[in-house]
Amino acid sequence: MLKPKKKKEERIKLSKESIQKAKRIFTYMKPYKGQFFIGWIFLFLSTFIGLLFPLLLGQLLGGESGNESSMSSLFEKMNMNNVNSFAFALFLVFAFQSIFSFFRVVIFTNVTENTLRDIRKDAFKRLVYMPMDFFNQNKVGELTSRISSDITQIQETLRTTVAEFFRQLVIIFGGIAFLAFISIKLALIMLASLPVIIIIAIVFGKFIKKLSKAAQDEAAASNVIIEESLMGIPNVKSFTNETFMLGKYTKIVDSIRNLQVKSGLWRGVFISFVIFTMFSAIVFIIWQGLLMTQGPNPELSRGDFFSFVMFTVMMGASFGSVPDMYANIQKAIGATENLMNIIETESEIELHKGSSKPVISGKVEFKAVNFSYPQRNDIQVLKNISFDVDENKTIALVGSSGAGKSTIASLLLNYYPLTNGEILYNGENANNIDTHHLRSHIAIVPQEVILFAGSIKENILFGNTDATDEEVINAAKKANALEFINSFPEKMETEVGDRGIQLSGGQKQRIAIARAILKDPKILILDEATSALDSESERLVQDALNTLMKGRTSFVIAHRLSTIKNADTIFVMENGQIIENGKHEELLSQDGTYAKLVNLQGFDIID
Ligand code: ADP
Repeated sequence: MLKPKKKKEERIKLSKESIQKAKRIFTYMKPYKGQFFIGWIFLFLSTFIGLLFPLLLGQLLGGESGNESSMSSLFEKMNMNNVNSFAFALFLVFAFQSIFSFFRVVIFTNVTENTLRDIRKDAFKRLVYMPMDFFNQNKVGELTSRISSDITQIQETLRTTVAEFFRQLVIIFGGIAFLAFISIKLALIMLASLPVIIIIAIVFGKFIKKLSKAAQDEAAASNVIIEESLMGIPNVKSFTNETFMLGKYTKIVDSIRNLQVKSGLWRGVFISFVIFTMFSAIVFIIWQGLLMTQGPNPELSRGDFFSFVMFTVMMGASFGSVPDMYANIQKAIGATENLMNIIETESEIELHKGSSKPVISGKVEFKAVNFSYPQRNDIQVLKNISFDVDENKTIALVGSSGAGKSTIASLLLNYYPLTNGEILYNGENANNIDTHHLRSHIAIVPQEVILFAGSIKENILFGNTDATDEEVINAAKKANALEFINSFPEKMETEVGDRGIQLSGGQKQRIAIARAILKDPKILILDEATSALDSESERLVQDALNTLMKGRTSFVIAHRLSTIKNADTIFVMENGQIIENGKHEELLSQDGTYAKLVNLQGFDIID
């Protein structure tokens, strides 16, 4: 929990570095730069033609000019001095603007969606290749909700905000230029109110952004609670901890509410400030403009005055929306930085590049292995573990919970870099072996089998995606799973997982065994279930396991006496050390820890 919190604080600041990082989004846009460029042309066209609207509407409303002032006389020179021609010109303006806007929206959406698709693919690719330690340090729920909210933020910004922001800026600067053209005095009045409002708005916007960011982070944390509670609902219910979880959740939603209300209060202040200053400024400027049309020798024609009013109103609206958009763009930069951080984290591919691919036959050696988990350096989990295992042997790992059995399994799979010592496969140091190659020769049948949403067939194919239908059926048969699979109406195509049928523990295990059979590994890691199955299921699973273990080196985290008795060697573990090893009878006769374990617990089942 500590680490992500630190990250949250870092995300609020928008440094040069973060902008630099966010710029890398352009590498993702590069393949679509042609399209993007065309989109910008349409944006330019629709924006500039949009500027004609206040101009022409003003002239239309103002009617014929009474003097030689700038704009009206310009139009007169163009022979555009009657109501009809202005109305017609306005229709044309909107016709063109609608065409340009159509293409602008379609093209921007295309570029955005293409870019985001590539980013999504890359981010997921990074995630699945992340080293195991990454998942110890990051909560999956928080990670997924963050990624999806980051993507939404970028999507919104790329698709509309950037274009809108640009449009508003053009309106503001175009408006100032126009005002300057018809009256320097008016332009100066406008400019005098401009900087003050913008600076205050930006400072305000930043402050509000900070508040809503904190609320967002709390919201992500609250999602984690929901996810953990619902995913572990049997746990929550069995411990009757509903109220406890509810209490935890209530606390966090209260804090979200408070943060949001606080930010709402400041947003309210912000909006009323903007409304007051903005409209006061508009009224003041219109008032000044109107004064200029008065008198026997007015400085301003009526047409120009109306154009000027239209521009002022439009500019006022633009000023109002700019800080919000700016804040949005800032958020998107933060979101991009966050995504790029994930995408650029060193993945396992880079950690193990250039490694060798030796023959892996099931010969495994641990040489004085010491190990601590990367985020818990202070606790030594394995201490000076050494053993030598030949091909096709069965090793039973026994010992109390926390002794280090699963850690040995994780190290066999090269989930973590070794702190000290060596693991050798057929004499080759695991550090030099290509991780993918190594893992392709190892299969694991876990204690708690998790099936993916999909058909039974897809779940078995997980062991070897290239297998034929026949091979899948064979594997299911060897795993004693075919019979129950065929008893379902859709047989192999039966959907399992969240939305599919529920399988019993024994059935899931046999699917996991079929998966492992299909993989045909040289090394097998078996974490025996601690929960007892009914005796029929037990027999079928045991039988399938015996078939699976034939001709491979098996490491069994054993909880059953029958498994342990059949093992070639038993390693008895305690506090990260192997304290006894040998066969069942040998160890019994030593009358040490093993004998005590057997006598005290009678095995079946120890943990
Ligand atoms: P066993 O499988 O024998 O029950 P483990 O290998 O799971 O034991 O755990 C050995 C020790 O390592 C325990 O003290 C446990 O708390 C610690 N440990 C296990 N997994 C992790 C992890 N991912 N991060 C930090 N410590 C861990």
